[in-house]
Amino acid sequence: MSSQLVGDETNDFSLRPKYFDQYIGQTAIKHELKVYIQAAKSRQEALDHVLLYGPPGLGKTTLAIIIANEMQVNLRTTSGPAIERPGDLVALLNELEAGDVLFIDEIHRLPKVVEEVLYSAMEDFYVDIVIGQGPTAHPVHFTLPPFTLIGATTRAGLLSGPLRDRFGIVAHMKFYDQAELTKIVKRTAKLLQTRINDSGAQTIAGRSRGTPRIANRLLKRVRDFAEVQHDQVIDQSTADAALKMLHVDELGLDDTDRQLLKVMIQFYNGGPVGINTLAANIGEEVETLTEMVEPFLLQLGLIKRTPRGRVATFNAYQHLNLPYHKKD
Ligand code: ADP
Repeated sequence: MSSQLVGDETNDFSLRPKYFDQYIGQTAIKHELKVYIQAAKSRQEALDHVLLYGPPGLGKTTLAIIIANEMQVNLRTTSGPAIERPGDLVALLNELEAGDVLFIDEIHRLPKVVEEVLYSAMEDFYVDIVIGQGPTAHPVHFTLPPFTLIGATTRAGLLSGPLRDRFGIVAHMKFYDQAELTKIVKRTAKLLQTRINDSGAQTIAGRSRGTPRIANRLLKRVRDFAEVQHDQVIDQSTADAALKMLHVDELGLDDTDRQLLKVMIQFYNGGPVGINTLAANIGEEVETLTEMVEPFLLQLGLIKRTPRGRVATFNAYQHLNLPYHKKD
């Protein structure tokens, strides 16, 4: 991503909704989870394990926090790459009390040996691990309190079958529509004590790639711009001018998005072209392209995925004002 859009998650915690009534959008998921939470609470049981998948910034971590709050239990947070050995996982599991939530972000990045320990922990609430090495090595059996594992991943397909099957609740997070993002921008503006009118909020929302994290970031940058300009209220013209300065266009595309499309069209005649080639051409990590850049371009219909690689659509040519030659 271009530098304007990275970082800046300071004070983000205060912007995070803590209960369902503050969590905007994702209506179907919210509705389903509310039912399961109410049922689990009335049976005084732990909630079933939950897998949340979808592009970054759509509110998976926030939802994990909300689930723990609504269940009135403790939340422990970690991430796949942070758990290197089975012992690290056992240490985390050992701290859980009955009903607690363990949130593992980027769960697809758990080492295989750790993942295997998780299977019995999720299914039957025990783990068997070997402690020590060589002649002193001995198996140890730990029983665990019933707990809820919430896993987050960018794509469910990245998870192994056995792990995916152990989640009772699987939720696919969707991009947010403009009305939902407008509400999020207004809510955040209120928390940041910044004045914004409807058209200002709509302008930011429309360029946030369907993603609350981006909406909040853009709002913060527009707020800086407004402050320097001595604008009392963020309106459409303030937002337009600030977003222009940030090189965010009317579809919400930034320099990286446009560069990707341009390379596809100008170097590879619109594709098909492989993602590794594209990443090398624009100097980005393949993972950044597949997780942060591509999903929204696919959603907008600017690119297509084919078995032979990515293809730029007619809409991409049109958006960049480049001549389109129909291919055979
Ligand atoms: P993810 O874990 O999917 O990457 P996060 O949960 O960290 O995303 O969300 C990114 C930011 O967007 C959060 O700080 C939160 O303030 C905001 N956010 C996400 N979803 C919502 C929502 N539904 N309503 C309001 N704000 C949201």
